Amino acid sequence: MGSATACFLAALAGPQRRITVVERDPTYAQASSSLSASSIRQQFSTPLSIQLSQFGHAFMASCAEGGRPGAAVGLHARGYLFLGRGEQAAALQRRTRLARSLGAEIEEFDVQALARRYPWMNLGDIHYACQGLRGEGWFDGYLLQQLYRSRARAAGVAYRQGEVVDVLTTGNRCTAVELADGTRLAADEVVNAAGPWSATVAERVGVWLPVRPRRRTMFVVSCPNAPAAAEAFPVLIEPNGVFVRPEQQHHLCTVSPRADNDPDGLPLDPDFSLFEDVIWPTLAARIPAFEALRVERAWAGYYEYNTVDHNGLVGQIGPENFFVATGFSGHGLMHSAGVGRGVAEWLVHGAYRTLDLSPLSPGRLLAGQPIVEEAVY
Ligand SMILES: Cc1cc2nc3c(=O)[nH]c(=O)nc-3n(C[C@H](O)[C@H](O)[C@H](O)COP(=O)(O)OP(=O)(O)OC[C@H]3O[C@@H](n4cnc5c(N)ncnc54)[C@H](O)[C@@H]3O)c2cc1C
Repeated sequence: MGSATACFLAALAGPQRRITVVERDPTYAQASSSLSASSIRQQFSTPLSIQLSQFGHAFMASCAEGGRPGAAVGLHARGYLFLGRGEQAAALQRRTRLARSLGAEIEEFDVQALARRYPWMNLGDIHYACQGLRGEGWFDGYLLQQLYRSRARAAGVAYRQGEVVDVLTTGNRCTAVELADGTRLAADEVVNAAGPWSATVAERVGVWLPVRPRRRTMFVVSCPNAPAAAEAFPVLIEPNGVFVRPEQQHHLCTVSPRADNDPDGLPLDPDFSLFEDVIWPTLAARIPAFEALRVERAWAGYYEYNTVDHNGLVGQIGPENFFVATGFSGHGLMHSAGVGRGVAEWLVHGAYRTLDLSPLSPGRLLAGQPIVEEAVY
């Protein structure tokens, strides 16, 4: 979010605007952006999430290499297939209608059509399914992050290693950020894009943000009798939220822990019990070939989880020149281009021009008007 904002801001504002990105760890070892599943979908429950995905996909597609759209960020086209049981069918149908009304192409399946399309899946428990036909898939999150960073640097943005420990204010304005080594960087505007740690930075100006670091574990698995040619395997979302998609010759899978067992700030050690207790049984029941799975690699990262409505928080809050771009709860990388562009427009023009991000204003929470994004996994 920080580098995306800097990249768009530098392009929009020109060289006379001095922009500094402060980053405590230039290796990004614990950054969510390095540890993500780096996938993109248009199937969400709120309009702006869909529009941000469409913007993000178009941006990534524009990052061509050797004449191939999206190749510079490893963009692969593949639809998300959502499987619904019982009451989930109605919610998925609502989402499909919403996404279509905004131009997304989504295919709906009845049970027979689904079984014809995916004969290698057990589908007896499924009542409804839908799959994106365009604008969905996955990409290389690290390449995307580095692309923002290198474009920002090429446009004159300074990257400064340091940990922000305080934000200094006079009256209702921020005047500087203070780093752990005592350096003070004067600032006319401060954008808090500290991801899972953004609530700690916001506290420095007396602002409470409901954003918490919530651990999520990714598993790369191999399967000796993989069920289908990789090109036929969708990004599959099970009724219980298990996610699986191809990853080169393997598969990448994850599931969020249950809400009542999801504390803040757990150490970033993979939680193997999620694989044993939830992911493997779910996948083996759906796809018999997945009885034989081996975990090749696992890692954990933090969702910057907005505990109130699971939607991004973008805009001014607290001091009049303090802005946040955080809280995306598992979909921030796919939305980073649209958010970076929007924050840049706000800082330069005082208004959103491309996409109206005002529904994501943090003020909605103070006003008790959350906009719940249901499609969070
Ligand atoms: C396992 C997992 C799977 C995910 N899958 C997807 C997906 O498929 N698609 C998708 O779109 N999103 C996904 N996400 C979410 C996505 O990765 C995040 O929404 C996004 O990366 C957030 O970006 P960010 O810039 O806000 O945070 P980060 O990438 O965490 O960046 C914040 C940076 O701030 C720095 N920082 C923090 N505090 C300070 C301080 N005080 N001073 C200086 N620097 C500081 C940190 O070092 C860090 O580099 C996933 C996340 C995880 C963990």
